[in-house]
Amino acid sequence: MNKPTIATLASHSALQILKGAKEEGFKTLLISNIKRDKFYERFNLADDVLVVDDFKDILDDKAQKTLNEKNSILIPHGSFVEYIGGRELLKLNVPMFGNKKVLEWEADRRKSYQWFRKAGIKIPHDFLKPDEIDRLTLVKLFGAKGGRGYALVQSEKEFNEKVGTFDPEKMQLQEYVLGTRFYPHFFYSPLEKENELIGIDLRYESNADGLPRMPADFYMPPTYVITGNIPIMMRESLLPEVFDLADRLVEKSKELFSPGLIGPYSIELVCTDKLEMYVFEISARIVAGTNVWMPGSPYTYLKYGKPISMGRRIAMEIKRAQKEKRLDEVIS
Ligand code: AMP
Repeated sequence: MNKPTIATLASHSALQILKGAKEEGFKTLLISNIKRDKFYERFNLADDVLVVDDFKDILDDKAQKTLNEKNSILIPHGSFVEYIGGRELLKLNVPMFGNKKVLEWEADRRKSYQWFRKAGIKIPHDFLKPDEIDRLTLVKLFGAKGGRGYALVQSEKEFNEKVGTFDPEKMQLQEYVLGTRFYPHFFYSPLEKENELIGIDLRYESNADGLPRMPADFYMPPTYVITGNIPIMMRESLLPEVFDLADRLVEKSKELFSPGLIGPYSIELVCTDKLEMYVFEISARIVAGTNVWMPGSPYTYLKYGKPISMGRRIAMEIKRAQKEKRLDEVIS
């Protein structure tokens, strides 16, 4: 492959991805639509813009041809799965950074939990039926955006009152773990065979984070729509366990969907007052929480001695893979 162009969709963490690519000397291409074009122009980070009506249109032959003519490597982020879909992306014939197969494992909650269990990591307890509920439980609806429609219940009686009929195909009864949340961002380098901690954030969620400002007798079911992200550092003594979780997930991913996780991913966890960590979700690509660590985080400073964002770390891996003729190890 001649010098690749780093391409992504105009959304989510696109600015960081384009900036990182430019810092590493790549040409950049932004797939945008009329509505978003003006906003992205303000930052002047895209050398080229491919305008589509709908992000799904990148599946069309014409768009794929254009992307391939420009030697594009697509960098997937949350909007790829949201607007195009994990399964649809498998049909795309444009090189993509990372392992496309993993997007299906993150999109399907049952598959992710299978992965966590096999990796031997602690997860919140799952109740199989409402009559098993014996503690604070979050009723999660599969595919609910921002947790809209989730309910908090403490017993079968409360489940019947607040939710009604139980449908195991549509909902999960998950123990609510009380503690503090952390969303560590990792980068697994197949070239170095190493897991790197790039940063950690805390999601700012509406209305869950707005409710404590209300009077104590005010009740409203919490929603978890992400409206922003806050940078956070974890107690240093807790970090070895976080690395252990990450190593287990990567090792198991190699067995479950070879070659496994490649590049950026984020673990979503709650840490209790007993300092036990429970993982409740994984994002198997760059998360928007990495945006808080531009141009770099304390962790990347410790490792590299210079500012390295997740966007730049991705570009560094592609640059090295190309130089060592190992691009096939980092794209799919
Ligand atoms: P999810 O839909 O799984 O991404 O969850 C949305 C939000 O609900 C998370 O970002 C957390 O704030 C919270 N949450 C999810 N699962 C749990 C859990 N088992 N215990 C406590 N909080 C949770």
